[in-house]
Amino acid sequence: MSTTGNQFETGKVGNLHILPVMRVLTEDPKDKRALLKIIEKARGRVKEVGPGIPEATKRDRAATLKAEIMEDLGIEGLESPLIEELIDTIIHLTGENAALREKNESLKQESRTDPLTGILNRRAFQEQMQRHVALDKRRDRDNPEAQRSHAYVMVAVDIDHFKKINDTHGHLAADEVLKQVAEIMRANVRSTDIAARLGGEEFVLVLLDTDIENARTVAEKVRKAVEEKTQSEGIKIPTTISLGIAGSDGTDLDTVLGRADRAMYGSKNNGRNQVTVAS
Ligand code: GH3
Ligand code: MG
Ligand code: MG
Repeated sequence: MSTTGNQFETGKVGNLHILPVMRVLTEDPKDKRALLKIIEKARGRVKEVGPGIPEATKRDRAATLKAEIMEDLGIEGLESPLIEELIDTIIHLTGENAALREKNESLKQESRTDPLTGILNRRAFQEQMQRHVALDKRRDRDNPEAQRSHAYVMVAVDIDHFKKINDTHGHLAADEVLKQVAEIMRANVRSTDIAARLGGEEFVLVLLDTDIENARTVAEKVRKAVEEKTQSEGIKIPTTISLGIAGSDGTDLDTVLGRADRAMYGSKNNGRNQVTVAS
């Protein structure tokens, strides 16, 4: 950045006399490079002045960073409140920007997660499924492999007599059961598969790029684990689940989910605690 006489010197940011600064950006390649260097340096060091750092530490580090930047630019001796203010502002905004981005990301994550169980909620499930439904619709159904396997296999899961679990063991213990069922589902699928709580004691598993037999094996594993493991404060809470399986078939999400649900109700009607494949 050039020294005195620089267009920065004539601008007063506080009074919105920002035009000279804007002119620097468009007219003077040397100063433009300097400005980009300040921005780049502030971004590179954002961890020191960004989210999670106490205000006082942040101020100290910002001052150090400013001194380093000025040294880098060869203007360490320059007494220019305007340029210092500009560097302060860039460092500050870079930190604020990172904090906002982080907050945004965590809000987004929150809006996609079921607060009780930590797995995906219905909204996130529907969002993720858009892609898999689209891929399924594009599948070449004349291909023998595509006839054997599915783009995704839907497994509907519903806890049996959950009302009774609430009545017998209380709401808190029943909540524990919900958490454990979710954890068992998550632990039994690949990280790329989907486990979601659609509401109440209804869940869904989506197994990607697989066949019905594999889905049945996974569903059986989940069913057995729920039967064996559910407890609260060391006391066994006998719990079973009914499951229904339907492979993707080129139709939309609600149709496949409806077929999995009907298969799940088949399990209920046949005595619960079992897996049924949609016909
Ligand atoms: P079925 O075997 O036919 O599925 O019977 P069910 O009792 O599981 O089914 P029903 O739909 O009649 O009852 C579901 C119960 O789930 C009712 C409600 O009190 C309970 N429930 C829904 N959401 C929650 C929750 O977040 N926490 C707790 N503790 N209970 C819940
Ligand atoms: Mg139920
Ligand atoms: Mg239900």
